[in-house]
Amino acid sequence: MAETRTGHCLCGGVSITVTNPSHELGACHCEMCRRWTGLCTMALGVAEADLAVEGAGNVAAFRSSDWAERCFCRVCGSTLWYHLTIPGQTVTHYVAAGLFDDLSGMHIGHELFFDRKPDAFAFAGDSKKITEAEFLASVASPEE
Ligand SMILES: [Zn+2]
Ligand SMILES: [Zn+2]
Repeated sequence: MAETRTGHCLCGGVSITVTNPSHELGACHCEMCRRWTGLCTMALGVAEADLAVEGAGNVAAFRSSDWAERCFCRVCGSTLWYHLTIPGQTVTHYVAAGLFDDLSGMHIGHELFFDRKPDAFAFAGDSKKITEAEFLASVASPEE
């Protein structure tokens, strides 16, 4: 039987079920993520086909750039997910880790924009640290 993880926003207006979740979270220290979530975004990459959403009518989207949206619950304001909106691109939803009922067995696999991380905190463990320049170079490469 496929593993699933469930979660919901603060008010319960949006519920999610993820099938076959990865156990590796990504963190992002970029300025937009910092403002979006209050300090650092931690998210689980989920293929569109593996994400079931209940309460889609409560999902609002903020177009944060020409290529992506950041979704939130229109009732309670909880961060939901980030996804690319480029036509023809595979849609991965980067689902906010805080929504999940159970985060056991999950770890932070990588940190993006590591050179932009505030001094106020540091995560335990040996995540892969990726700087802003390294990240921007990786998304600009033609095979992405
Ligand atoms: Zn809500
Ligand atoms: Zn970010």
